[in-house]
Amino acid sequence: MALLSINPATGERIRDYPEATEKEVAMLLGEAACAQAGWRRVAFSERARRMRQAAAILREREEALARLMAEEMGKPLAQGRAEVDKCAWVCDHYAENAESLLSPEPVGTDASRSFVAFPPLGVVLAVMPWNFPFWQVFRFAAPALMAGNGGVLKHASNVTGCALAIQGVLSDAGFPEPLFRALLVGSDRVAAVIESRGIAAVTLTGSTPAGRSVARKAGQCLKKTVLELGGSDPYLVLEDADLEPAAETCVASRLINAGQSCIAAKRFIVVEPVRGRFEELFVEKMRSHEVGDPLDEATQVGPLARRDLRDDLHRQVSASLERGARLLLGGSVPDGPGAFYPPTVLTGVAKGMPAFDEELFGPVAAIVPVRDEDAAIAAANDSPFGLGAAVFTRDLARGERIAAEELEAGSCFVNAAVKSDPRLPFGGIKESGYGRELSAFGIREFVNVKTVYVK
Ligand code: NAP
Repeated sequence: MALLSINPATGERIRDYPEATEKEVAMLLGEAACAQAGWRRVAFSERARRMRQAAAILREREEALARLMAEEMGKPLAQGRAEVDKCAWVCDHYAENAESLLSPEPVGTDASRSFVAFPPLGVVLAVMPWNFPFWQVFRFAAPALMAGNGGVLKHASNVTGCALAIQGVLSDAGFPEPLFRALLVGSDRVAAVIESRGIAAVTLTGSTPAGRSVARKAGQCLKKTVLELGGSDPYLVLEDADLEPAAETCVASRLINAGQSCIAAKRFIVVEPVRGRFEELFVEKMRSHEVGDPLDEATQVGPLARRDLRDDLHRQVSASLERGARLLLGGSVPDGPGAFYPPTVLTGVAKGMPAFDEELFGPVAAIVPVRDEDAAIAAANDSPFGLGAAVFTRDLARGERIAAEELEAGSCFVNAAVKSDPRLPFGGIKESGYGRELSAFGIREFVNVKTVYVK
């Protein structure tokens, strides 16, 4: 079997990559484990030197890497450059902070000395998605490697060029070979990799069904997992919101990466007194976004990453309309070979429609009208997901209370779009997964929290 890279803007086949054989996989896992056994003894200062080098290489290669993403999964160039830059940031962040985040913590007991140490677990399997093909990988790899782990990357099958480019960056930065390697296999071979002795733990970023399947296998093998899964982030617009900037932020969050972001705003829960004006502003701003070729600098919204994903999205829109949603913008599949879908706005969305109950992974906004704040909070939490959420209000104390105490999500923002940041923990609850990436919490996921007691 081969892994296919297809340009989603044109439908053209870019390249076929042959899958690794079973023998090659076994050899690679054995070698990665050997490399990690040496790496865990390398001083933090030396690990940091290489991680800073990786950041520098990413910045040098920014243009080529942005182009690669545009070609393999349709991300507009400006967004690709920003993604590469953010990867460099996370590398620098953990180069700077890993040692202090993992320094042993003394604990007073009856021992002459007792403390908690954080040694690495070993080689971690990273199963990653195509939507932020660099960022998802680096936000795992930077802390994991700085902690002394190794990494094996099973990237999404449509972005093998990105997987190999990431391997190239880390290899050129001087990480020992093969501490971090791309494994060219399809998802049907992930279970066998999890079972192998060389793998200590697994992290998966992707859909909820993929997370369930990996968690089941890792559970059988009793290997630690971190799961970063889907979301249907609610953005609450209250009657005292500043509507113009709120609509601007909501649209930007819905359309980033053509709507293919786990933390994109997906459900806009708007209280009745401001619904009419919010809808007007929202539709106007959704309409103004330039859809087109991701290699064209003017493009703001590229194609979806694959035609099958575009067709699934259209089915969700059609089913929501059949169940009573109303179309305010878009909603039809354009002609042509690419995987394009227009910015689309549905209103009157409610429970029982795919636009409310499921994740819409594309440029489709679902407006959910509600009576008041209590109904908005209830609708926001009435979801199997719990990744991000936002609330818009001029009353900051009210916003903070709702964010901190009411909304069921891993990240809750007030008057701003949910975003990831190396300094803040990132992850979900409910069917959005468990465990955290980034910050001190992220770097401590793949370590042994070890008690040392000296009598
Ligand atoms: P996906 O289909 O779940 O694929 C993600 C990765 O999992 C790919 O490498 C895929 O390999 C692999 N995979 C799929 N099914 C598997 C299985 N049964 N066993 C083992 N591995 C499996 O998701 P996607 O379409 O690439 O990405 C979109 C999803 O990711 C959305 O739901 C989005 O919300 C979520 N996401 C979450 C976060 C977060 O941080 N929470 C971030 C980004 C994306 P193949 O490509 O070979 O199938």
